[in-house]
Amino acid sequence: MSTTQTPHIALFPSAGMGHLMPLLRLSAMLAKRNCIITVITAHPTVSAAESDHISSFLHRNPEINHLKLHLTRGSLIADSAAADPFFLQFHLINQSIHLLRPLLSSSSPPFSALFVDMFLVARTAPIAKDLHLPVYVVSTTSIEFISLMAYLPNLQLKLTEFNNASAEIKIPGLLPMAMSSFPPAFLDPNHLFTSIIIMNSQALSEAEGILMNTFEWFQASTLDTLNKERVMTSLPPILPLGPLEPYHIPPDGDHHYRSWLENQPSDSVVYISFGSRTAMSRDQVRELEKGLEKAGWRFCWNLKTSKVDKDDSEDVKDILSDFFVERTMNKGVILRGWADQQEILAHPAIGGFVSHCGWNSVMEAAWQGVPVLAWPQHGDQRLNAKVVEDAGFGLWERKWDWGVDGIVKGEEIERKIVELMTDEKLREGAKKVREEARKAVESGGSSDRVIRDVINSLTLPF
Ligand code: UDP
Ligand code: UDP
Repeated sequence: MSTTQTPHIALFPSAGMGHLMPLLRLSAMLAKRNCIITVITAHPTVSAAESDHISSFLHRNPEINHLKLHLTRGSLIADSAAADPFFLQFHLINQSIHLLRPLLSSSSPPFSALFVDMFLVARTAPIAKDLHLPVYVVSTTSIEFISLMAYLPNLQLKLTEFNNASAEIKIPGLLPMAMSSFPPAFLDPNHLFTSIIIMNSQALSEAEGILMNTFEWFQASTLDTLNKERVMTSLPPILPLGPLEPYHIPPDGDHHYRSWLENQPSDSVVYISFGSRTAMSRDQVRELEKGLEKAGWRFCWNLKTSKVDKDDSEDVKDILSDFFVERTMNKGVILRGWADQQEILAHPAIGGFVSHCGWNSVMEAAWQGVPVLAWPQHGDQRLNAKVVEDAGFGLWERKWDWGVDGIVKGEEIERKIVELMTDEKLREGAKKVREEARKAVESGGSSDRVIRDVINSLTLPF
């Protein structure tokens, strides 16, 4: 008679909340399905939000084990002082990766698999292979962006020719992509972000599969072509198991936004957030003030003016103009520091979401059925914005520049916010997405089946 063994899975996130949150969510989902889970995190973290979340998550999920990988300050890159601290952290983790082997090999019970962030697969896959551990990549982005990542080495030599607003490229299995949607950093092969992407793109095929925070209905035809027809040999199967379930951390303290939201009518508030690591410039803040005031809708604005939260200490009074504060005092609430976005989006008062389209935010909006005004700022966000638009629950004004390249004027913002809050078709589209997202995760739904299959594949008879 053969018995089965409980899988012991190591999950290894990279840097930044946009990478940590989905890996922690996945850890909790797997633990709930009776897997033994060990989360491996790199220390020190870049942001305070990361260390706070790791501690509170582990405190509230005592069955989940934790191992720390202490970063060694090896050779820094040439202009490390100027580099994005999160990209630098990806680099530092990769440099310290030899420390992973003892963590993986000395575990009891032994590990059955490694689930690793897409930016760490190149250096971790050989270690896992040596230890006979299957590797799954955890994607923190859209299918579109990870496909571009897999295809990028083929494009390398041609990138400069594509530096043209109307140019498109055709990646097998996907709709044509506008070159203007590529992260500008891709035009520089020496950029830290580009080199990390290229290094890892070549290793994606080493994985058993890519665990993707999306769901079958949402991107059915793309998934079909990529998985059934296997048009991209550099991509292993894409396994859609989202929207990833948020873990519940009880509210800490009395955040004024909660009581404020309670007193607003349904669908009357526009929520504005550019994620965890996008700073808004002073000039853009001024224009957004104008846009919000003129649009006249109530607002909940998650305002960040530094890339790393520890540096974001300025008082609201010193950022916003007195004029805006006086005129809109009763119309809105400003959030500083960490606020629970999933909880905000779930509130019935929220009727629209002005979002940078980080992929976690996109899936959270899909889950809650909140229409999105896509305002991509950098990285994968334009490709993500297109997915939102195509799925029928978002607007995207393509003329708006990347965050660092230009300022969007108040009148433009006003126009789009009014459209976001009044477009009934969009609201219907968002409701449909919400309905389908919920079907996907329920017992027997498409995402639930995927996660069960992954676990079963690790449950070896002995
Ligand atoms: N987030 C949050 N509160 C904040 C800022 C961010 O809860 O004040 C969460 C957000 O809900 C999402 C993640 O942090 O789950 C950010 O990931 P995303 O991919 O949207 O954007 P990134 O921060 O990586 O640009
Ligand atoms: N859930 C999920 N994916 C998500 C959000 C939630 O699988 O993106 C699960 C969640 O863990 C819970 C149920 O769906 O089991 C209800 O979710 P939530 O707490 O967000 O309540 P609701 O939004 O339905 O009020």
